Amino acid sequence: MKIGILGAGQLGRMLALAGYPLDFDFVFLDPATEACAAPLGTHIKADFDDERALQEFCVSVDVATFEFENVSSHSAEFVAARIPLYPSPRALTAGQDRLHEKKLFAQLAVPVPGNIAVSSLDGLRLAVEHLGLPCVLKTRRMGYDGKGQAVLRATEDLAPAWDKLGSQPLILEEFIPFEREVSCLAVRAQNGEMRFYPLVENVHRDGILRTAIPTGNDPLQAEGESYARRVAEHLGYVGVMAFEFFVSGGKLLANEIAPRVHNSGHWSIEGAECSQFENHLRAVAGLPLGSTALRGASAMVNLIGSAPSTPALAALDGVHVHSYGKTPKPQRKIGHVTVTAPTREALMARLAPVKALVERHAQ
Ligand code: AMP
Repeated sequence: MKIGILGAGQLGRMLALAGYPLDFDFVFLDPATEACAAPLGTHIKADFDDERALQEFCVSVDVATFEFENVSSHSAEFVAARIPLYPSPRALTAGQDRLHEKKLFAQLAVPVPGNIAVSSLDGLRLAVEHLGLPCVLKTRRMGYDGKGQAVLRATEDLAPAWDKLGSQPLILEEFIPFEREVSCLAVRAQNGEMRFYPLVENVHRDGILRTAIPTGNDPLQAEGESYARRVAEHLGYVGVMAFEFFVSGGKLLANEIAPRVHNSGHWSIEGAECSQFENHLRAVAGLPLGSTALRGASAMVNLIGSAPSTPALAALDGVHVHSYGKTPKPQRKIGHVTVTAPTREALMARLAPVKALVERHAQ
């Protein structure tokens, strides 16, 4: 079976690596010259809204998916009118606008931080009066890895934040002094069957994910699964969906969904019976889903900006190196390592020196 992927970054690359053993071939559409998934399939180098390229993409594959969630709804509809596209355009667009996304969560009785749409500096002042300081101003669209947002701590912060972000529609959110951040990775098959990975505990710095550790027996597992199920069923979702939450007062508050495989699930390549990448492909191709159970203990550490040498990392106990073949650049995700161990205690002992080494190189 030929699978088309819109986007050819590291997520596409890891999807292809998971797909070859299942006898899938891959076609990627991506405008980047140095797209890091390109060596793993056919690369159609074109913009996501280039209809001639999209047509070529559609005639060369049996089924399509995406690894980049900012594909326009027009392009997604164009593809879905010609070949099966999973998740559907509706599921893709549900998370593209933070305001609509939060409204959807609230409609499904999934708790969210207080939030208000903002479209002028006066509107921002009123919204801040309503929500109180501190709060977080975000662009409604196209934000990722902490880009397109500003934390407002004092009234003097409002005008500079408006100058930086105000050319686009914005959302102001209550600042959540969270105890933890967790994500629930769910996979839904074409027949509606769902499976859930154990909740993952995520640590961000400067808005970028640094470490992700599956928890195994998290007290919030059932709550996370029930919220993810509500959203996935409402959207008729097919594939892997990542749902990011804040834990506040021991309860989950929804931050956002990603309609794709997600950085907080990379540990599953070594750490789960069936990885998020394989399960996504299984769902998209109509195969039975694989087990989401843990294989021992594991943790993922991102390589950001620059990384220790592969030999230095590979020399450490339990370390599995994933280098994406990307040119190093500050704040850019260029790879990750998964650390595995038979028990949580052994994992923590192995993780500490890995984190220290990676941190020394991060940019
Ligand atoms: P986002 O792009 O919305 O996922 O935000 C990136 C990171 O910024 C999150 O993972 C949090 O660490 C932090 N953040 C975002 N929104 C809030 C909020 N309302 N309260 C506190 N921290 C936040």
